[in-house]
Amino acid sequence: ATANIGVVGLAVMGSNLARNLASREGNTVAVYNRSYEKTETLLSEHPEAGFVGSSTVEEFAASLQTPRTAIIMVKAGAGTDAVIDQLTAVFEPGDIIVDGGNALFTDTIRREKAVRETGIHFVGAGISGGEEGALNGPSIMPGGSKESYETLGPILSSIAAVAEGEPCVTHVGTDGAGHFVKMIHNGIEYADMQLIAEAYDLIRRGTGKSPAEIADVFAEWNTGELESYLIEITAEVLRQVDAETGKPLVDVIVDQAGAKGTGAWTVQTALDLGIPVSGIAEAVFARSLSSKPAQRAAATDLPGPSDAWTVDDPETFIEDVRRALYASKIIAYSQGFDEIVAGAEQYGWDIQKGEIAKIWRGGCIIRAQFLNRITEAYAENDGLVALVTAPYFRDAVAGAQDSWRRVVATAAHAGIPAPAFSSSLSYYDGLRADRLPAALVQGQRDFFGAHTYKRIDKDGTFHTLWSGDRSEISAVDTH
Ligand code: NDP
Repeated sequence: ATANIGVVGLAVMGSNLARNLASREGNTVAVYNRSYEKTETLLSEHPEAGFVGSSTVEEFAASLQTPRTAIIMVKAGAGTDAVIDQLTAVFEPGDIIVDGGNALFTDTIRREKAVRETGIHFVGAGISGGEEGALNGPSIMPGGSKESYETLGPILSSIAAVAEGEPCVTHVGTDGAGHFVKMIHNGIEYADMQLIAEAYDLIRRGTGKSPAEIADVFAEWNTGELESYLIEITAEVLRQVDAETGKPLVDVIVDQAGAKGTGAWTVQTALDLGIPVSGIAEAVFARSLSSKPAQRAAATDLPGPSDAWTVDDPETFIEDVRRALYASKIIAYSQGFDEIVAGAEQYGWDIQKGEIAKIWRGGCIIRAQFLNRITEAYAENDGLVALVTAPYFRDAVAGAQDSWRRVVATAAHAGIPAPAFSSSLSYYDGLRADRLPAALVQGQRDFFGAHTYKRIDKDGTFHTLWSGDRSEISAVDTH
């Protein structure tokens, strides 16, 4: 046994993670893949890494020093279960199996429980940053037991991205906590991307600027409070010219957005937890709408606004859009963190919100300066009930809201879809409302279903005899 860490699954993510591990002082990395060709390719292309290759899982286990630590990077789902079965058959109590794939957190909870019964530790670790991140430093969100993190922490810290001198990894919580937080990360990523896309669309249609000119706008925004990886790559994509046609690349790409499911998971989970992540949901739905060509084709002649729309002052409009984007972004993160808080409560995880914002500052897709403000907000008040109510964010939204309202109104007026901008604004107005029409909804529910209601002026639960004399009676709470 010569290796101190192993990687199973040598497609793009696993190979890059293995190379990242091998590049760190003191590591000898064992590698294994179901089909041996991938192992052979990796060994021959990267002799400098000093990999210990195996063609069977038994050989792989024998090549690892005990207690063994192996990271699985295979296709999430059945592939992960198959590899866990193989590893638990050859590993021993005290060994650690890490699943670095994009597992659904409830699968991770189930797997952790099953593997724990064998005495082997199971750690579901969310890994963000794509291929690039896996090779040069991802953001890592490990769950699992505290005990396993003692062994794993230093190894993961050594390969993680570094942001302001700190490695982008922290023990998120037990069992599925890491994959849960990775899921939320991806949900926020969907919202962030959709908001940026809406900003681009509004500017393009409102000002007639070319994609290359809008690239300059985003590059400029990237020097301020919106500074982030996603804004940076947006400028790059908008600037790209198609070699074949000479047109902006964005104009030759089919406008149907794909998805691999983590955004939908975030929203499905939020529905179960009762958390309104409307910005993320609209982002997921916007991709769904875009990918319905038959419906879209059938709807192209539906009438739009009858008034023409012109932007009088492009510079002011662009600044309005920038502020609307920032305010909406704050809402998306506020909603995402609400879901983290609710998940932690539901599943019994002690998640340090400020630490999560910290480990997202580097390596991952939503990396941004802005995350420091979130860490600060939770450092000031760990019991913060909504991120948007923290002083910094409250002030930021206060400064942006007039612009935000103008942009949403303009989008509606001009017939330009801005689902994430407008749903975020509605959420904000709903949250801050003194009274909500939910009172009327309760009245309706009581009318047709005797679902009862509470009163603002006395304790108890009440029901109006709607089909009788309409007097009010005390009722047993049916909830
Ligand atoms: P893929 O998701 O394409 O998975 C391919 C790998 O899985 C191959 O090594 C394949 O082995 C193995 N595999 C599939 N089914 C089985 C099985 N039943 N038994 C054993 N091995 C199996 O690889 P990626 O590198 O793209 O991703 C790996 C993981 O990382 C996934 O969970 C993905 O969601 C996650 N991830 C990916 C990111 C990305 O940017 N791509 C970012 C973050 C996470 P074989 O060669 O024998 O077919």
